Amino acid sequence: MKAVSPEASFAPATEITRIGRDPARFDGFVNTPVVRGSTVLSASYDDLVNHRGRYSYGRRGNPTSEALEQAISRLEGAAGTVLTPSGLSAISVALLSVLESGDHLLMVDTAYNPTRKICDGVLARYGIEVSYYDPKVGAGIVDLLRPNTRAIFLESPGSQSMEVQDVPAIVSVARERGITTLIDNTWATPLFLKPLEMGVDVSIMAGTKYVSGHSDVNLGTIAVNARMWKRVLQTHGDMGICVSPDDAALGLRGLRTMLVRLERHWKSAIEVATWMKAQPQVAEVRYPALEGDAGHALWKRDFTGACGLFSVILKPVPEPAFAAFFDSLALFGMGYSWGGFESLIIPFDCSTYRTATQWQPGGPAMRLQIGLEDPADLIADLAQGFACLEAAR
Ligand SMILES: *Cc1c(COP(=O)(O)O)cnc(C)c1O
Repeated sequence: MKAVSPEASFAPATEITRIGRDPARFDGFVNTPVVRGSTVLSASYDDLVNHRGRYSYGRRGNPTSEALEQAISRLEGAAGTVLTPSGLSAISVALLSVLESGDHLLMVDTAYNPTRKICDGVLARYGIEVSYYDPKVGAGIVDLLRPNTRAIFLESPGSQSMEVQDVPAIVSVARERGITTLIDNTWATPLFLKPLEMGVDVSIMAGTKYVSGHSDVNLGTIAVNARMWKRVLQTHGDMGICVSPDDAALGLRGLRTMLVRLERHWKSAIEVATWMKAQPQVAEVRYPALEGDAGHALWKRDFTGACGLFSVILKPVPEPAFAAFFDSLALFGMGYSWGGFESLIIPFDCSTYRTATQWQPGGPAMRLQIGLEDPADLIADLAQGFACLEAAR
């Protein structure tokens, strides 16, 4: 096989088959092996005391975790990437890397709810002020800055309610003032949104979702630009965060099919969301990729695709009838997380924890993850669900 220069760049579909592996280094095996280990032996006293080895200790990385880090860095256009054992720990490590006691953090009101818990719990205990902002604030974020504002955290689209943020507008305000920006990019993945290219400093993913793609692992990634890389790497290392090589290998394995899976999730989600929108029980579908969605114009400007996750708000319906809909579904599992091959559904209500925005949708809400099943089967399942809802009214 002809060698290709490491600088060569290919289309995303090609790139994703090549990144994070080096068969020549592992006797020709296509995939980077799972290297389990804590201790790494040095060949000599000189190598040991002068840290000449490529690896120093299992916690600080091994060939398997390094392969996934390099792959994510390529996708994100990052100076470096660190891995964490879950998406939530990626968020906490990134925030603790950037912030210091006395700092102020602007957190988007529509963040993944456990992210709020980090802010109101650990960060508050360590003397970090947090205030929440409306995801639609755009350049108006400038009015929310305080003299001690160190960082702005974004998540787009917002968890559950699906608002698309004007990332470039917020980044431009932050950049002018040396404020660090971080984004939770789990929904789009770097295949469909490139935050670092837009000037964001830190791009975080729950690798648990589409990177893994099979609902069988928790994983987090923190991809960082040159400005913040040393700080994140140091904090991550000092805190002793590492992932098992088996989990890193699952991440690498999922990555190979991430683009084809996402393209199918997206196509099927458009089909199911369009059908949902036409049902008499449905008040609103929130899916930025769908024409008519409030965030569609921003999505079209900044994103190159969409995943299979969207939300639906029903017209008012008694709770037992709403419950009957859920209980009647055969192809939609009821459970947390998303990004796997299987369809999922959960009810949600943001009204108890949002503080900068009001959640008054006028009816019960649910979030759907459209999996890799045939969309016609999914629509048939939802149709019989609405029939059960009507029967239970
Ligand atoms: C699931 C999720 C996380 C957390 O990932 P875990 O691996 O479950 O900790 C973070 N952000 C978003 C947007 C998520 O959906």
